[in-house]
Amino acid sequence: MLVRVARFWAVANRVSPGTSVVDSHFALYSILPLTVGALRKCPLVVHFQGPWAGESTAAGHGLASVKAKQLVERLVYRRAAEIVTLSAAFRRLLVERYGISPWHIHVIPPGVDLTHFKPGDWAMARQGLNLPCDAWIAVVVRRLVSRMGVDVLLRAWAQLRPRSVSPILLVVGTGPERARLEALTTELGIEDTVRFLGSLGDEALVDCYRAADISIVPSLALEGFGLVVLEALASGTPVVGTDAGGLPEVLAGLDKGLIVRAGDRDALARRLLGAIDGSEPLPGPAACRSHAERFTWSEAAHRNLAVYERAVRPRHRSRLRVVYLDHCARLSGGELAMLRLLPALSEVDAHVILAEDGPLAAQLTQAGISVEVLPMAEAARGMHRDRLRVGHFPAHTAVAAATHAIRLRSRLAHLRPDLVHTNSLKAALYGGVASRAAGIPAIWHIRDRVEEDYLPRPAVSLIRLLARHIPSAVVANSRSTLATLHLPAGQGTVVPSPIGPYLTCASPRAPHRPLQVGMVGRIAPWKGQHIFVDAFSRAFPNGPEQATIIGSPMFGTDEETYEKALHRQINDHGLEARIKLVGFRHDVAAELDRLDVLVHASIIPEPFGQVVVEGMSAGLAVVAAGDGGPAEIVTHGVDGLLYPPGDACALTTALGRLAGDGNLRQALGSAARKRAEEFRPQRVAEEVTEVYREVLRQA
Ligand code: UDP
Repeated sequence: MLVRVARFWAVANRVSPGTSVVDSHFALYSILPLTVGALRKCPLVVHFQGPWAGESTAAGHGLASVKAKQLVERLVYRRAAEIVTLSAAFRRLLVERYGISPWHIHVIPPGVDLTHFKPGDWAMARQGLNLPCDAWIAVVVRRLVSRMGVDVLLRAWAQLRPRSVSPILLVVGTGPERARLEALTTELGIEDTVRFLGSLGDEALVDCYRAADISIVPSLALEGFGLVVLEALASGTPVVGTDAGGLPEVLAGLDKGLIVRAGDRDALARRLLGAIDGSEPLPGPAACRSHAERFTWSEAAHRNLAVYERAVRPRHRSRLRVVYLDHCARLSGGELAMLRLLPALSEVDAHVILAEDGPLAAQLTQAGISVEVLPMAEAARGMHRDRLRVGHFPAHTAVAAATHAIRLRSRLAHLRPDLVHTNSLKAALYGGVASRAAGIPAIWHIRDRVEEDYLPRPAVSLIRLLARHIPSAVVANSRSTLATLHLPAGQGTVVPSPIGPYLTCASPRAPHRPLQVGMVGRIAPWKGQHIFVDAFSRAFPNGPEQATIIGSPMFGTDEETYEKALHRQINDHGLEARIKLVGFRHDVAAELDRLDVLVHASIIPEPFGQVVVEGMSAGLAVVAAGDGGPAEIVTHGVDGLLYPPGDACALTTALGRLAGDGNLRQALGSAARKRAEEFRPQRVAEEVTEVYREVLRQA
């Protein structure tokens, strides 16, 4: 060891005069350049390939060994000028587990050798590997350690009993788990359909991909990226992978249906059966190849070079650093609006701090946005607005909120962003206090009405009071939302919510089919689904017209009880065959494509109403409750129809009018599509950036 250190010292001194940056690909190898010889003066760039200590724990190593590795990692990552990861999932791990500041972490996906891994002769590949032409062949290429989930795959494989084809699974790779996995195939009675091929050379590996109908990546955890995904795709072979680590980031761009939950053998078996029987087809070779072609080494090299340049010139910084706060990680409207806004903010380095983990964190990560979860105690996070009463504010809720604000203050003081942007009412309160205490200007983005028809009176008074003193600027999603804050004239900026970019092209509707009317949104009493059911049943008591209610309850038992009541209401009208509640849908665009008319039915003024803009951009005839945001978006009779909120009779009349007049539907739909253009994310992002600039000018 001493000889090695001495040699390193000599080499470091010799090369340091011409060296700008030291780039290390493993924490342990960074120790010497950080501590010995003249290279200490050079900025260090670290490529983070995975948590060394975490992998060690997963492999069952002793506590002392794990702790030592953790110590080395902490030292190295904290001293590094810049860190490169292969996926946003690993960036999150660095931020959460090692407390590294996200501003210095760069996500640079790797490339794949497109000349080596390319589609080729399928029949020859099978012949070379001695595989039958008529079999359905799957391949898994992995180091055989437990976190790779090959045992889960084997259990899923044992559930497949397709009649049409005979399946064969090729397991490529070796590792400490091999003997156990081979024993498992015997135990499961699948030894005839599983072949362990051991480690293969590069040529044979390409042949395996070419021979296979599918490549499977069943990882359970700590998957930084999954180079095997790119290799298979580049060879023209589709991949089914889990949602572990960086895998969804590679696969989602090709087809979200290729991702299954990690460790869920039943879901994996179902997905494989869907591929076999064609009910859930896999992407073809051309689509796989062209997706892989997006990942080139020259692009990766280019981006690495830019990181070196940053490490050398750390003071030069042109982008704003903004931390976004939200207490909720569910896919509710305000959270979806943030998810759509952040990728469009081209001048901002965004980092989101959520108070809980949930689907929003995963979606942000998939969109390449930096995210961390700073958990807040349920007593404060889950406090429902209806339970707030004067003199009834539970002490443990207050303590939990204050504790969170204190922790957040110290996190913000460490991150030192230029601005904090709060995205929910709760986040405005705890985040506003925390950022003030850390000396960072806060912007409140208000997406809910601060009015007694939505919040209890004490909350309304408190928020209105604090809105004047805590934030440096207030942004509201509509004029009507802004008015509820009672700010002095001229204060506050209205910025609409951006539309999801996926909704901008509507396909033509099939003629001569029964009218399809729909409603999209959370199932909640104030969203007025009951008004819609009432109006639909009156407008179309019998006939072929059909209704779809898209959305699910999200917050609490009141909404769940309301959903049950809706089912009863539909049954009472005898309309269960014509009104369907289909639950939450991720692909709202696909649902809108099936509709002719979109109804919005909130019984109190809607703060903004993203669903209204979504329906308009899909070219639908929209009928909306004419107050709040929708009344600012829709011009009655030009790009939609408005009716008095809660008035089922007026909605019945509007539905009848639209059902009987196809030309009107078309005219409203095409004007609506034009109007929806004004809510493009880029446009909204510019308005938000302008608010940032103004706040910083005044700071
Ligand atoms: N949404 C969705 N799937 C569903 C129901 C709703 O993705 O099943 C989305 C909808 O497309 C819209 C958002 O949820 O983008 C609701 O936003 P809106 O402003 O209309 O209402 P909020 O939830 O903010 O009150």
